[in-house]
Amino acid sequence: MKGKTYQVVIVGGGMVGATAACLLAEKGVSVALIDAGNPAAKWERGSYDLRVSALTMASINIFKQLDVWTGVAKLGQQAVDKMFVWDHFGSGELDIDSADAGEAQMGSVVENRVTVLALWQKLKTLEHCELFTSMQLESFNVDDEGVDIHLSNGKTIRADLLVGADGSNSNIRQLSGIEDYGWEYKQKALVATVKPEQSHQNTAWQRFLEEGPLALLPLRDGLVSIVWTSSPETTDAYLKLSDADFCKALAEASEYKLGDFELVGGRGGFPLKLQFSPEYSQQRMVLIGDAIHTIHPLAGQGANLGLKDAVTLAEVIVQAHQKGRDIASQQVLRRYERQRKGDNILVMGMMDGFKKLFGADDMLVQLTRSSGMSLVNSSTLVKNQICKYAMGL
Ligand SMILES: Cc1cc2nc3c(=O)[nH]c(=O)nc-3n(C[C@H](O)[C@H](O)[C@H](O)COP(=O)(O)OP(=O)(O)OC[C@H]3O[C@@H](n4cnc5c(N)ncnc54)[C@H](O)[C@@H]3O)c2cc1C
Repeated sequence: MKGKTYQVVIVGGGMVGATAACLLAEKGVSVALIDAGNPAAKWERGSYDLRVSALTMASINIFKQLDVWTGVAKLGQQAVDKMFVWDHFGSGELDIDSADAGEAQMGSVVENRVTVLALWQKLKTLEHCELFTSMQLESFNVDDEGVDIHLSNGKTIRADLLVGADGSNSNIRQLSGIEDYGWEYKQKALVATVKPEQSHQNTAWQRFLEEGPLALLPLRDGLVSIVWTSSPETTDAYLKLSDADFCKALAEASEYKLGDFELVGGRGGFPLKLQFSPEYSQQRMVLIGDAIHTIHPLAGQGANLGLKDAVTLAEVIVQAHQKGRDIASQQVLRRYERQRKGDNILVMGMMDGFKKLFGADDMLVQLTRSSGMSLVNSSTLVKNQICKYAMGL
């Protein structure tokens, strides 16, 4: 059965797809946003999402411009003012304070469900946006004038342009035959929410351990969200520990910087990989976010990169729409690809390089790394640059 026609159909209503939908619908582009799930509209008091993202000021500014940040703030976020990084080897450490760079904060840590809900609440107010939940894209056919999108409810809708924001296992990317490259890191990230004995001091703490980084991110209500990267075997062992033994291991691994911990809720494990696609678009189809790049979470850049994809894509589409041109022409899609590819490859390469630098067990590399950190720590200029980088500015 044939359904409606939209200018843009976005598949994937996570942080990236929902942001693209907001940016387009606000400018009068008709959009349908389809998600396989149904974003949680409420949750139990005192419960916390294991998936959180450290959002840069650049990302926060996108949400402020969309008037979505007020919703995020109401649901709960935690500002990050400082960063403290230290190495298990030697005495290398780095402390960065946004106040030294003349900035109020570096960014915020927000549970993913909070950001997604605030975006969907905004989308519900937009006249040009239609939302489809608990619905999947099954297949699609492209012709010269548009794309027919076949949905799991048996209906077909049509669009000028199909946007794949369906995450790292993107169905759209696979159906298009777009290759993805990369490698498994042979590492697994353990995520958990804990209550520290001492205040987190609005600081993002990160210790580089032998098997990978341990990040302790400040969360709302004085809690801390941890992302602890180790070999899959070690992570699985930590996942099996009793709550008390796990908290003890965590306190030891973080050198009691925040004292002891108490676990709040469960623990989860995510295998880590680097994955990218060199082809961002095909006829009347384009990919954004994790659908084209999945990176190591060690510097918390994945969602921030995807949000930049959403902004750039929306800009080129809105420009074409306002000039009355075809929003899905090769010229428009290539402009998006040209503007995003360099930045995406640079950040992906940097995260991979950091991972290798901090994962190296070679004594010389460890020595250089530790003294390099201390050297950087002695330069206010370099530290201010790192601060601006962490802010995404
Ligand atoms: C442990 C860990 C920590 C991280 N920390 C950070 C951090 O601090 N900062 C940061 O910036 N990034 C971080 N990231 C990365 C970040 O989580 C991702 O980059 C981000 O969530 C990607 O968003 P997305 O919208 O592109 O994809 P997703 O969040 O994967 O959303 C995809 C959406 O598509 C929907 N979908 C999929 N297939 C279909 C289909 N066929 N039909 C309909 N809908 C479909 C799904 O339901 C989902 O809602 C972290 C990642 C991990 C693993």
